[in-house]
Amino acid sequence: MKEITCKLLVIGAGPGGYVCAIRAGQLGIDTVIVEMAKPGGTCLNIGCIPSKAIIHAADDFTKTVAMAAGKNAMGIKADNPVIDLAKTMSWKDGITGRLTLGVAGLLKKAGVKIVVGRAKFRDGKTVAVETETGEQVIRAENIVIATGSAPVELPMLPFGGKVISSTGALSLAEVPERLAVVGAGYIGLELGLAFAKLGAKVTIVEALDRILPLYDTQLTQPVAKRLAALGVEVLLGTKVKGLSSNGEALLAETGSGEEKRIAADKILVTVGRKPVTEGWGREELELDMDGRFLKVDEQCRTSMRGIYAVGDVTGEPMLAHRAMAQGEMVAEIVSGKRRSWDKRAIPAVCFTDPEIVSVGLSPDEAKAQGREIKVGQFPFAANGRAMTLSAEEGFVRVVARADNHLVLGIQAVGAGISELSAAFGLAVEMGARLEDVAGTIHAHPTQSEAFAEAALKALGHALHM
Ligand code: FAD
Ligand code: NAD
Repeated sequence: MKEITCKLLVIGAGPGGYVCAIRAGQLGIDTVIVEMAKPGGTCLNIGCIPSKAIIHAADDFTKTVAMAAGKNAMGIKADNPVIDLAKTMSWKDGITGRLTLGVAGLLKKAGVKIVVGRAKFRDGKTVAVETETGEQVIRAENIVIATGSAPVELPMLPFGGKVISSTGALSLAEVPERLAVVGAGYIGLELGLAFAKLGAKVTIVEALDRILPLYDTQLTQPVAKRLAALGVEVLLGTKVKGLSSNGEALLAETGSGEEKRIAADKILVTVGRKPVTEGWGREELELDMDGRFLKVDEQCRTSMRGIYAVGDVTGEPMLAHRAMAQGEMVAEIVSGKRRSWDKRAIPAVCFTDPEIVSVGLSPDEAKAQGREIKVGQFPFAANGRAMTLSAEEGFVRVVARADNHLVLGIQAVGAGISELSAAFGLAVEMGARLEDVAGTIHAHPTQSEAFAEAALKALGHALHM
């Protein structure tokens, strides 16, 4: 096969890689992208998008079940709702299919050449790709490693049979009667809650003494309440031991030494993800590492000239929007623009019920940095729109410097508030002060009014509480 030469080669077409390649193409850079699976990576195929589709279907189903049980305060009645999970999955697959085709189309439109196959470095400028029709050698001036991440496997619970990763959970044809979830982090809680709503008896086993250790307990408390209301058993401070000898149950041990036997039809292991640093010829290169991740500087340059890395392979937070922002930046750097990582904050959203959003510093983080702060918190129970949505649980909290009122962080928990992450992110990124947020007219009636009220509260004069 004839060798390809190009200015930019991107390995991996997840959010980090495909965004980098599209932007590079737009900038007129001669770009090739190699992907061994489908365009879109983890995010579009087996991550963000399919999980949010299942979460949405589970929400609709659980609301309908409540209507059928006569538990709907609005007076809506339903009869005998059923879920056809196979159909739900094919609806979800339709969405991911449209999006991955869309990414392929965007790459083509930007003039990017797509090579399908597994890429492996031969040296710092040359990559060989195993394609269906043979080996394709690509020489490039610049190479971006965007190989992403994969689920962590527990040695005592290897994936296979009834032990599944998020990928398996997102393609189940039936709702398992009993689902054990190991890990109460992002995926364990997002999918654990969804399957509980779909009718599974869910038990969650978490090694630490709290759920979602990334967020403070004030933020996670409404989620804990919802888990209890849905009948999800959460075993905190509990270690998993493995499968019982007949394979029927998950064995675990609580902090006080009590043995637990959790009968389960499926066991979903969600104890984190690891960067994909093997399988692409890292051994042929001299790349510095930062723990288990590839080490990069503020321009996503690795320790080798002309080799960049973006996305999950470069570290935490392993989020799609961080990968995309890095990818876009690297394309511009390769084109000669002066760019470096100058973001004030990366929003984090957990699509639990209710949803959690965090941007910038929490009160504890700000205090740990020795800052004098003002904090304003406004409950959705006092927000008219939240009442009309039956979504009164939760609040918006604003953290600002005490001296000049610069907003340092914003956190919220509440139904459907993931969309507020844009307003929160903009406020922190633009260096807003409490007066800017309070002085912006927030449309009525919306949940976003709670944001302005939280800023007013920090200033000492909330209007609606
Ligand atoms: P990836 O998306 O992992 O893409 C890497 C690509 O590289 C893959 O397509 C892979 O096939 C390819 N590749 C690897 N090695 C090679 C090779 N040698 N040759 C060719 N191709 C190769 N993040 C959010 O921000 N919001 C969410 O709501 C969210 N939900 C998630 C839900 C789940 C269930 C999971 C698992 C993850 C979720 N994430 C979410 C995380 C998000 O998916 C990742 O942060 C994001 O996909 C990282 O992008 P990336 O480009 O670094 O890597
Ligand atoms: P996670 O890091 O969010 O949570 C893992 C949890 O497992 C932690 O609470 C940890 O204490 C626990 N744990 C670890 N080892 C354990 C053990 N042996 N027994 C019991 N519990 C154990 O990991 P995840 O849920 O697998 O998600 C991986 C990553 O994917 C996330 O960190 C995030 O970067 C990304 N993600 C993001 C979103 C989102 O943005 N909404 C959604 C899903 C995934």
